[in-house]
Amino acid sequence: MRIARFSIDGNVAFGAVEGTDSVPDGLVLDIIKGVPFAEFELSGTKVPLSKVRLLPPVLPSKVVAIGRNYAEHAAELGNEVPPSPWAFFKPSTSVVGPGDPIVYPTFSSEVHHEAELAVVIGRMCREVPRERVKDVILGYTCGNDVTARDTQRAEKQWARAKGFDSSCPLGPWIETGVDPSDLAITATVNGELRQAGRTSQMINSIEDLIVNITEAMTLLPGDVILTGTPAGVGPLNVGDEVAVTIEGIGTLTNKVIKRG
Ligand code: MG
Repeated sequence: MRIARFSIDGNVAFGAVEGTDSVPDGLVLDIIKGVPFAEFELSGTKVPLSKVRLLPPVLPSKVVAIGRNYAEHAAELGNEVPPSPWAFFKPSTSVVGPGDPIVYPTFSSEVHHEAELAVVIGRMCREVPRERVKDVILGYTCGNDVTARDTQRAEKQWARAKGFDSSCPLGPWIETGVDPSDLAITATVNGELRQAGRTSQMINSIEDLIVNITEAMTLLPGDVILTGTPAGVGPLNVGDEVAVTIEGIGTLTNKVIKRG
């Protein structure tokens, strides 16, 4: 199932995405009663996807992101692969949705895209054993770990480099039915292919990451794990349109704008 969060006429709701995108207005949202983090029912009330504004599919209390989880990406920046998962936070205020602008930060002149598989947590959990990891995952979406690379080099902590407003586009929806172990993941900028990898190239698997993270902290429903980016990261400029596509999930598109 594909679960989107959207607004229509000033109301916010979740809906199950149904239908086909091969005809105009072929995709519809069947509005969910309640929230998708517990047993829920579909209302049967359907609205065309084209009539709503898609929002970030979740409002995470935190986004836990993993650095250098693809060997070729670590190498392209001249970095070693760390001996164990290397986590950092992106704040809730960095999250934006599909179609929302990425606002180029005033303190940087080198902003990069990083296409990433995003894991959406479905239930409160801590110290999750490996065999229970699948039980705490609601589904998967596309993420872009937008990074001020010059700031990242200049500052030991990455709070500003990777935490500025709009640096965490997520969407377009949560896919609950996909096997995430070997999916094609790409980033294009203005239609030109920049990143192309497969989730099977991750050094630490999703199981490894959730065991490692929940050793330290409680994850809440709606929290997001960004699982690292494949090789091919590169600059974004004002006016660019960046699209992250993950096989079996969808495409997350955002335009880069100047702070007005
Ligand atoms: Mg990243």
